[in-house]
Amino acid sequence: MSAPLILIVEDEPTIASAIARRLTAEGYRAQTVGDGLAAVLAAAALSPELVLLDVMLPGIDGLEVCRRVQAERPVPVLMLTARDDETDKLIGLGVGADDYMTKPFSMRELVARIKALLRRVERAKQLGAPAVPDAPIQAGDLLIDRASRRVTRAGDEVHLTPTEFDLLVFLAESPRTVLTREKLLEHVWDWVDASGTRTVDSHIKAVRRKLGADLIRTVHGVGYAFEPCEEAEDG
Ligand code: CA
Repeated sequence: MSAPLILIVEDEPTIASAIARRLTAEGYRAQTVGDGLAAVLAAAALSPELVLLDVMLPGIDGLEVCRRVQAERPVPVLMLTARDDETDKLIGLGVGADDYMTKPFSMRELVARIKALLRRVERAKQLGAPAVPDAPIQAGDLLIDRASRRVTRAGDEVHLTPTEFDLLVFLAESPRTVLTREKLLEHVWDWVDASGTRTVDSHIKAVRRKLGADLIRTVHGVGYAFEPCEEAEDG
């Protein structure tokens, strides 16, 4: 099996080439492009295993690139932002990246995040076709089909990114149970350290935005719990 291909979308050549060098040294294949349109075309032509995407790009920006790339084919996207508040804004918009890193970042951290993301996708792939598929999870008007990785609420299909789906399933498998951010990070993101708990909050925000705010309860200072919705009460 050939090494995973990572598409690096970054308009600053020195950063792009530094990342490409490091990823190549880590055993990955790396391809760099410098603008949004080239990124969309390259993602379609090369089918990379992961897209590393700078937000601020000439032409089509990173948000639009993310939408177009993921509309084509589900591929993990790690988005690079200039500031923390920019990350929050993007999350609020529900852009659908699987992870975010704020510049400047260390190459070591970048490689760790890429490894974790690829490992997670690989694991999901292996679990994707079990001999006996997991039964769908039904909670009120919410239906999570684990076999096809589709979610509907009140019959309407809701599009979740791979990370959002894994997060929802992990929470829904233990209803009314408080799961700490650290536990969610460990299981959903496969991280052993707890440096990135803010990532959990971001993805919870995105899931709520898409599915409604009533399904996941915040337990302040601790974590989150899945609260199965009651049957709709009419009148
Ligand atoms: Ca840029």
